[in-house]
Amino acid sequence: APLAELRGASKRYGATMALEGLDFRVGRGEIVALLGPNGAGKTTALGLLNGRLSADSGRVSLLGGDPRDWRVRQRLGVMLQEARLPDQLRVGEYLQLFASHYPEPRPIDEVLALTGLEALVSRRHDALSGGEQRRLQFALAIIGRPALLLVDEPTVGLDIEARQRFWQLIRRLRGEGLAMVLTTHYLDEADALADRIVVIGSGRVLAEGTPAGIKARA
Ligand code: ADP
Ligand code: ADP
Repeated sequence: APLAELRGASKRYGATMALEGLDFRVGRGEIVALLGPNGAGKTTALGLLNGRLSADSGRVSLLGGDPRDWRVRQRLGVMLQEARLPDQLRVGEYLQLFASHYPEPRPIDEVLALTGLEALVSRRHDALSGGEQRRLQFALAIIGRPALLLVDEPTVGLDIEARQRFWQLIRRLRGEGLAMVLTTHYLDEADALADRIVVIGSGRVLAEGTPAGIKARA
């Protein structure tokens, strides 16, 4: 069975059809990139997978269950675009707080090393650079040992170096076999990271294939 699957998922906001019969699946150890321009429906698709939104029609399955079930959601790691973290905590305090919500969290030192945040453990969130905040978000998303990670537009607004470091970080986690759904509007990012690319436009799948296959058509 796939780790996650959308089948004919539709979602409307008032008069706007955000998703119109979207289909895709994520297999074990696979990184799937949802690639498309702003407004394509990528964030809405992630919202269905993380249980924040309900589909109007179609089916959404996550880790063999329903994403609106918190026991299913607890096995999911989520890194969204806007960091909604209270600013008064320090990096190490966030990691402790998040770790305390999971039965078998990764050791905090391991997460710090993985994300290159060791030297920043006592730094407050509001004193981190953009790239560092992204890495903290990522650290918080993986600390519970998720079975699947959802990552929304991870490198928007980062400079080239910070972007490349983020890619390295994602590749390292992929090396551990962690499956991911990654949204992006950059073809080079999807190409660098994904096993499979699902091109979305106007809430539909326009094309699907390996990075090489998608680039050949572009
Ligand atoms: P993407 O992540 O690819 O930019 P979204 O899923 O955010 O796309 O948006 C898909 C469409 O739904 C867009 O036309 C967007 O304007 C619309 N939309 C998204 N969220 C809302 C909302 N809360 N209310 C009304 N329209 C929305
Ligand atoms: P920004 O560009 O937003 O300031 P970066 O993401 O480029 O932030 O990182 C800032 C510092 O953290 C750099 O000195 C870099 O060497 C270090 N760094 C970034 N990612 C890692 C990582 N995965 N492992 C170890 N060190 C890292």
